Amino acid sequence: MSEIGHGGKQIVERILDPKSAKEKIQSLKKIPVREQMAVEVIDLAYGFFSPLQGFMGKADVDSVCKKMRLKDGTVWSIPIVFDLSDKEIVEYGIKEGDKVLLTYKDSPAAIFEVEEIYSYNKQEMAKDVYGTNDEKHPGVKLTYQTKDKFLGGKITMVSKPVINPPFTPFLITPLEMRKKIKEKGWVRSVAHQTRNVPHTGHEWLMKGSWLSAYGELPVEKMIVGVVVNAIIGEKRPGDYIDEAIVLTHDVLRKAGYFREDVHLTSISLWDMRYAGPREAVFHAALRANLGISHHMFGRDHAGVGTYYDPYDAHRIFDKFSEKDLNIKPVRVLEWWYCPVCAEVTYMGLCNHKDKIQNFSGTLIRSIIQDGVKPPRLIFRPEVFDLIEECAQKYGMGSAYVTKEYLANRNPVFTFPKL
Ligand SMILES: [Zn+2]
Repeated sequence: MSEIGHGGKQIVERILDPKSAKEKIQSLKKIPVREQMAVEVIDLAYGFFSPLQGFMGKADVDSVCKKMRLKDGTVWSIPIVFDLSDKEIVEYGIKEGDKVLLTYKDSPAAIFEVEEIYSYNKQEMAKDVYGTNDEKHPGVKLTYQTKDKFLGGKITMVSKPVINPPFTPFLITPLEMRKKIKEKGWVRSVAHQTRNVPHTGHEWLMKGSWLSAYGELPVEKMIVGVVVNAIIGEKRPGDYIDEAIVLTHDVLRKAGYFREDVHLTSISLWDMRYAGPREAVFHAALRANLGISHHMFGRDHAGVGTYYDPYDAHRIFDKFSEKDLNIKPVRVLEWWYCPVCAEVTYMGLCNHKDKIQNFSGTLIRSIIQDGVKPPRLIFRPEVFDLIEECAQKYGMGSAYVTKEYLANRNPVFTFPKL
């Protein structure tokens, strides 16, 4: 089995041996971390961020900001940093060379070998990564919120996190995903990035990218798969609730819109930075580490507002060679429903531009909020029913994120107490 991931490097997995974990963390200073850091610990330890083995030092951050590469030349587009305030550094008494224990909600998360403590110019970082210093950009805001200092160094996860229902079967680690792809016999697979519940436009996109990935392969058996990889992380009011996103994608296969042997739903934990083209490159690395061969990029991939041209996330891949990325981008143009053709169609295909109906977020939202079953040309009935079920079961009555949901939802993961 190939375990070569992003950058042509071995997939990283850094988890303590359960037999010695307790003893290894006993005497370490404890530093509690917020959810974003706990998530990134999981990503680093399971190799979602391979070849990174920990939080970045200054030379890597500099190189990522300026050249979109790690200092060793591996393509990398978004800094992965661990921050603390000057006050916390003094309080915890942390210095370079220390080994500390990161804890999350009073459970041990990871051993952090602090190799470097440094400051970084955040204005410059935001400008380089997001192309703007506008604090309304959520990625810029997140950058400005980081504390005084960054700490770089390797992490080792103390024990595997428990992934809570209904997400349990969907967090598939890079090594596990490679096994699954092999078991399924897929010679190619195409990643579908999502933060939405799927309407038929999304389904059509997955089917279209499956065809693209199939290319010239022989047709004797199903050897290409679609891997839905939902990004689960920080939510903003108005986003779909995570439970609905994951379960509705899974039901597309269960209800037969995809065959059992061509479709797989999974999740990655990550707080979206909305970095547009740079986020597209980051998503490519993430899915290359999952062992996926192709990645679909649509219009305005991972963008926000009007900070990026809708096709910046396509063009950025022209900068890289095939050797740079172990995954092939499948570029998808804008698409819509055409009532004259009576099907979903691409920009530049049919000549009914004045008749087209966009699957706009507003249209879909009004359909969901009305609760009247839409035509199956827009929503599959199984998907639509499940959105309502998820709203009741997980969303306190709403399929969209509310303050109540954020305050009361069941956590996606928990670190076990030792
Ligand atoms: Zn048409």
